[in-house]
Amino acid sequence: MKKIILTIAIFIGVAACKTNPFTGKKVLNFYPNSQVFPMAFAQYDQFLTENNVIENSSEAKMITKVGQRISSAAERWLTANGYAGYLKDYKWEYNLVKDETVNAWCMPGGKIVFYTGILPITQTETGVAVVMGHEVAHALADHGAQRMSAGTLQQIGAVAGNVAIQDPQKRNIFNQAYGVGSQVGLMLPFSRGHETEADRIGLQIMAIAGYDPTEAAELWKRMKANSGGQAPPEFLSTHPSNDTRINNLTEWAPMAKAEAKKFGVTSFE
Ligand SMILES: [Zn+2]
Repeated sequence: MKKIILTIAIFIGVAACKTNPFTGKKVLNFYPNSQVFPMAFAQYDQFLTENNVIENSSEAKMITKVGQRISSAAERWLTANGYAGYLKDYKWEYNLVKDETVNAWCMPGGKIVFYTGILPITQTETGVAVVMGHEVAHALADHGAQRMSAGTLQQIGAVAGNVAIQDPQKRNIFNQAYGVGSQVGLMLPFSRGHETEADRIGLQIMAIAGYDPTEAAELWKRMKANSGGQAPPEFLSTHPSNDTRINNLTEWAPMAKAEAKKFGVTSFE
């Protein structure tokens, strides 16, 4: 019996690990896109019907334009690095929602929301690209599914690893991982590690999309000035601290430019 459990545990351990193409690191992920994305898409649609989506304004159009440039840069990067088809289940969507909250977020499968409250801080199209790169990076790195997997482990224990969870339970785990459900759209903070990873990946893809990565640190300086020491939502998460973030982004900007050069991008806007 022990042997069987061990075999199952090993099988699950292997099956649940996925390589993050951007870091090369193995990450825990029980949830294939085919399970997570439909839940995310449904939650996203529900959020849009319950909130004030701005359509056809010049700002809304700009959000979409930046999103398309960033996701197509991600696709070029993935294809060039042997991950063609990685995005086949993604259904990118970029919406601007009238809300004073200084925030933006992304659900699995590429469902992105910007609140109008973040626009005074992004200021320019390049500023939007900084935030967009970060949000797209969360989606590419499956940070949400990883959080769901961690939640699952907590709930059912590492050995049991019950892969065949019933649907309502899966939805429940999704809602807990995202903090959605009763408060749709109010996303829980990602971990410090996930935030740093999203900053780094985001910087590279914004550069490949032709946006100046040195602007990322500038954006976070404005965020810092704006936050005034208050406990912020996901995007303004205090982990890592604004200063760490600004230092990291300043240090990584030349690397991002070098990566963009591999794709023939040498001038940035
Ligand atoms: Zn984030």
